[in-house]
Amino acid sequence: MSSVLLRGARIIDPANPGAPSPRDLGVRDGRIVEPVPGERWDQVIGASGCIAMAGGIDLHTHIGGGKVNLARMLMVEDHRAVNNPHALPAANALELPSCGRCAPGTLATGYRYVEMGYTAAFEPAMVASNARHAHMEMGDVPVLDHGAYVMLGNDELFLQLLAEGGPDAHNFAQLRDYTAWTMRASKAMGVKVVNPGGISAFKFNQRKLDVNEAHVRWQVTPRQVVHTLARALHELGVPHPLHIHGSNLGVAGNIDSTLQTIAALEGLPAHLTHVQFHSYGTEGPKKFSSAAQQLAEAVNANPQISIDVGQIMFGQTVTASGDTMRQHAQSALASPRKWVGADIECTAGCGVVPFRYREQSYVNALQWAIGLEIFLLVNNPWQVVLTTDHPNGGPFTSYPHLIRLLMDRSFRDEQLARLHPEVAAHCALRSIARELTLDEIAVMTRAAPARLLGLRDRGHLGVGAAADIALYHDEPNRETMFATPLVVLKDGTLVARAGRITATPVGGTHFVEPGYDSAIEKTLRRHWSEHGSIGFDRVAIDRDELCRCCNGGRLLPAACFEGSS
Ligand SMILES: [Zn+2]
Ligand SMILES: [Zn+2]
Repeated sequence: MSSVLLRGARIIDPANPGAPSPRDLGVRDGRIVEPVPGERWDQVIGASGCIAMAGGIDLHTHIGGGKVNLARMLMVEDHRAVNNPHALPAANALELPSCGRCAPGTLATGYRYVEMGYTAAFEPAMVASNARHAHMEMGDVPVLDHGAYVMLGNDELFLQLLAEGGPDAHNFAQLRDYTAWTMRASKAMGVKVVNPGGISAFKFNQRKLDVNEAHVRWQVTPRQVVHTLARALHELGVPHPLHIHGSNLGVAGNIDSTLQTIAALEGLPAHLTHVQFHSYGTEGPKKFSSAAQQLAEAVNANPQISIDVGQIMFGQTVTASGDTMRQHAQSALASPRKWVGADIECTAGCGVVPFRYREQSYVNALQWAIGLEIFLLVNNPWQVVLTTDHPNGGPFTSYPHLIRLLMDRSFRDEQLARLHPEVAAHCALRSIARELTLDEIAVMTRAAPARLLGLRDRGHLGVGAAADIALYHDEPNRETMFATPLVVLKDGTLVARAGRITATPVGGTHFVEPGYDSAIEKTLRRHWSEHGSIGFDRVAIDRDELCRCCNGGRLLPAACFEGSS
């Protein structure tokens, strides 16, 4: 494997505070090494005046699985718009203008991320019964390392066991073992709960389910679902805590549900995802207001909680969510007017609704402001991850624009002035002076996601770390800077130079394999024989099959912490 020396870059590496900068970064055998004077290098890249950061890590982006494919099929306009060969002449095969912007195909997904300096991406809503498909699609995404969170908490077996355990959860060990078994069987990196219990309740004709409200069939509450899953992951020692898409997504006044969800955790660690969609109040003439301040206060007071924002960006996108209940409600607002709702084996759900965020819409303009307020009001950047919940708030290709909004107040104010006048005149964002620093951006886009996922050798530039490196021109316009790094290395291979893909190695697959008591398999076997469409012995994916599914990429199992049980 080749060796590379990056000479003289300014190093932005918040996971290793105090390390000298500028300095030379050596890369050998895919790892960062300490360069020794006089050492020979296959390639030397002059980097003085440039900024080096670890490769970006997106911990919440819908890039593989059933919903994503449904979104691609539904959004023919998106594909036609970009797939016009006259509009974008292709210089080589890697630049073929393939497959869309808000619902890009696998190849375009990999290329566009890598061109921006990202080297890993995680699919947050893998349906257990569709795990093979999700892994295959992610394996088809070039270059990026990947992993997925499996959805639990709306599957009938989980809810049945939870109901059987009663309020004291006397069968908690069964639920914990089922969680561990599901993660191992689907080769997941984490667990996501979506509208806890609500997707299932929707199938029993409930159209809303608040945190302390009972599911009509199972008589369990979202509070119990959230607490049980968070406790299970904590006791299993899974590095990434429960990934929570809370109750009442998008509903005015849902800040109460979000704060109740944090309370339900009783101090257990958790990650609240796309919180922008869960931080709404009911004040003002339109009964829709920002609750970013309340959300930020709760995050500031609970260091065991992390969030990603799910910033919205103006323009056309498509929303793809496991939250059938909320997507059904949103379907009346679809633009263009079409949508898909689907389910597989009653283990979760799915809704795909195209949507156009408009600057002159009061609600959309306020959503935009709320997302930015959350970024700027949470004190500790290690608790915040930069996302648009691609493609739900907007496509991931808008990240450089978002970074500029966060780093450049005058640019932000200019954008704000273009929005619906009532939002522009009254939102709290107007008075927030904070401009995020390069260090804080590096935390939110690489260091924090690596730490929150338990990826010890990623997200930083210390000796021994994987040589995933993005080298940027230090330009005052941060959008230009972050859109096109000078050089991107993935495990030491030069994969992009000045926005052109130069190599397409296969990415690796992150997963965890928590331990469990095999007695649970008796219960699972019975459940599968009564309800499943495939035999129980065919359900689990083993490591060999995972490798085949993922295009032969490297397997990157993450170690579990010592469990507290
Ligand atoms: Zn979600
Ligand atoms: Zn999402």
